[in-house]
Amino acid sequence: MLATIKKNIRYLSDLRFPHNKGFCPICKRNTTFIAYNPWLRDNYRCKYCRTIPRKRAIIHTLQKFYPNLNELSVHESSPGKKDPSSTYIQNNCKDYTCSHFFPDKKLGSDVNGMRCENLTNLTFPDNTFDLFITQDVFEHVFFPEKAFKEIARVLKPGGAHVFTMPWYPHFPKSIKRAELHENGTITHLLEPNYHGNPISENGSLVTYDWGLDFTDFIYENSGLNTTIYLEINEKLGLNAKFLEVFISRKT
Ligand SMILES: [Zn+2]
Repeated sequence: MLATIKKNIRYLSDLRFPHNKGFCPICKRNTTFIAYNPWLRDNYRCKYCRTIPRKRAIIHTLQKFYPNLNELSVHESSPGKKDPSSTYIQNNCKDYTCSHFFPDKKLGSDVNGMRCENLTNLTFPDNTFDLFITQDVFEHVFFPEKAFKEIARVLKPGGAHVFTMPWYPHFPKSIKRAELHENGTITHLLEPNYHGNPISENGSLVTYDWGLDFTDFIYENSGLNTTIYLEINEKLGLNAKFLEVFISRKT
């Protein structure tokens, strides 16, 4: 009887809080993935590198689709501070650069070792990069039509924008949550929602909830064709909501 109760408790706890052995794509160690909270997206962590699932998802996708990462020219926009996934890309790529947007700094300038770039007005020449990476950035962009177009411009033919963002395929159409006006004021079309921002204590306003039509939105504005890759695999610590990785290719 006691054994049955224990087994059932274990079963219930496993359902809510995965705790399993596996291999981490980022720190490349046999590890244990542990969740202490049912919201796995922010809590199902590798015992060693402490990464969350979407970070492992983008690195696993890069390993799978771009095993020659080391030979590629890669730019990442808006990486997190000491982010293990960005560090992985940097350490496994001879030609890695990254940037953040500092509104009061000159575009293209160096700000404490970080290049200042605005996704909607990049200073790079056409056909510069093999891969352009963004991790949970596109739900915060005010003018995504310009940003996708700019990324397409700076990608080499055959290159790709590889990115993560929350995606709501049960919404037939994407929902704009806020608008930025020329005078700098913001109109909130829905209740403001903010996520953490590595360079601002104020956080980042969510500007779009992306729906089913977002691949058409990208194609219409940039000509990039998007593949959606989703792998749920607890052996790699891949289990959570919003685990899709998007690969938008330039032909
Ligand atoms: Zn790890």
